[in-house]
Amino acid sequence: MSQTPDSAVRTYIEQYRAAFLDDLAEWLRIPSVSAQPDHAPDVRRSADWLAAKLTETGFPTVEVWETPGAPAVFAEWPAGDPEAPTVLVYGHHDVQPAAREDGWDSEPFEPVVRGDRLYARGAADDKGQVFFHTLGVRAHLAATGRTAPAVTLKLLIEGEEESGSPNFRALVERRAERLAADVVIVSDTGMWSEDTPTVCTGMRGLAECQIVLHGPDQDIHSGAFGGAVPNPATVAARLVAALHDEHARVAIPGFYEGVVELSERERRLWAELPFDEEGWLREAHSYATEGEAGHTTLERVWARPTAEVNGIGGGYQGPGSKTIIPSSALLKLSFRLVAGQEPDHIEKIVRAWATERIPAGIRAEITFLPATRPCLTPLDHPGLQSLARAMGRAFEGPVRFTRSGGSGPAADLQDVLGAPVLFLGISVPSDGWHAPNEKVELDLLLKGVETSAYLWGDLAENWRHAT
Ligand SMILES: [Zn+2]
Repeated sequence: MSQTPDSAVRTYIEQYRAAFLDDLAEWLRIPSVSAQPDHAPDVRRSADWLAAKLTETGFPTVEVWETPGAPAVFAEWPAGDPEAPTVLVYGHHDVQPAAREDGWDSEPFEPVVRGDRLYARGAADDKGQVFFHTLGVRAHLAATGRTAPAVTLKLLIEGEEESGSPNFRALVERRAERLAADVVIVSDTGMWSEDTPTVCTGMRGLAECQIVLHGPDQDIHSGAFGGAVPNPATVAARLVAALHDEHARVAIPGFYEGVVELSERERRLWAELPFDEEGWLREAHSYATEGEAGHTTLERVWARPTAEVNGIGGGYQGPGSKTIIPSSALLKLSFRLVAGQEPDHIEKIVRAWATERIPAGIRAEITFLPATRPCLTPLDHPGLQSLARAMGRAFEGPVRFTRSGGSGPAADLQDVLGAPVLFLGISVPSDGWHAPNEKVELDLLLKGVETSAYLWGDLAENWRHAT
């Protein structure tokens, strides 16, 4: 997968490296914390700052898009060739809260370089990874002698990702025409490790539900009535017990319908990743692995759907005893979904499965939260191959493939725009996302610039071959 790097791209990046890092530091000084209302003016300042910088980069169209919450930034640079594919890059300009006293060794909003690392809130998540595209596109132009990128390049940089993207889907729906793209590149992600560059090919989806079980109108005496009326806590426990079979497979009928099975090739590639299960367990703060029979740990978190109990409660939980049959019990369940599973279908079968298990005398209130669909790009997708080639040139070595067990707003882009989602990220697990002393490895950040510089030309060429 590795290709020859381009010396013109490298020379250009070397030449502008210092200015690029100065600019990034300036952006990182803006504490664009979307979760804290007193930082709302900073989130806006961050959007305006980025918009000005994208104009300076050369994007002919740059707009700050309002939402009921924090503003997003949109930019567009049409390809010279009208037949060229259109790429939409997604990232976010808001950051997680951070304060020195949380355990930072330096001020979180005063970026510092220590060794080969740049420390600041947002260095990796996500300002650094958004910003590498600005130098990337300029290196692409300089090295190829173009005046416009080889693809029509669009950027959508939202301002509320760290607050759960409450207005993102509506924004994408409202602006779907402006955002239309052949492929979406998400740069809000990471790779396996410093030595193992990887491309993530998909994320799981998520369906969440709450089940409230109502029994007697009030807590009642277990001596006077126990044994003769249904107990909602017992019903909750029975539901939980019925979620999985003895092989830790989800036992809800129809749950695996449509699931895209892992290919033998992907399975083999994952098995070759330098996975350290002991280290992974430490990170999980857990003492043993457990999961669906016939699958490795990586397969379980990346490629298999799950049913998890996130919360269970009901009845007396104070000191001593209280001999009652509780009036109600509560379950919070969530389902990580993989490609081929539709949240609507999952909701339907979970409702049917639960309802069937509710005895007379118990009333169940089942509510589902808005779901996130899974996304997956097949290994042979031409866009994914372009991305792996571009990364291979930057890193001068083989690029491997991973997936993410998490779920994110990338799925909204996939759904609304009908475009496959590719993940280009250079962050590594030690970068400390959402934690004190967040940093980005400068070397990897510049590899991100370089990957971005190679990607547009490769994509334009291969899209032609693909269509
Ligand atoms: Zn992020």
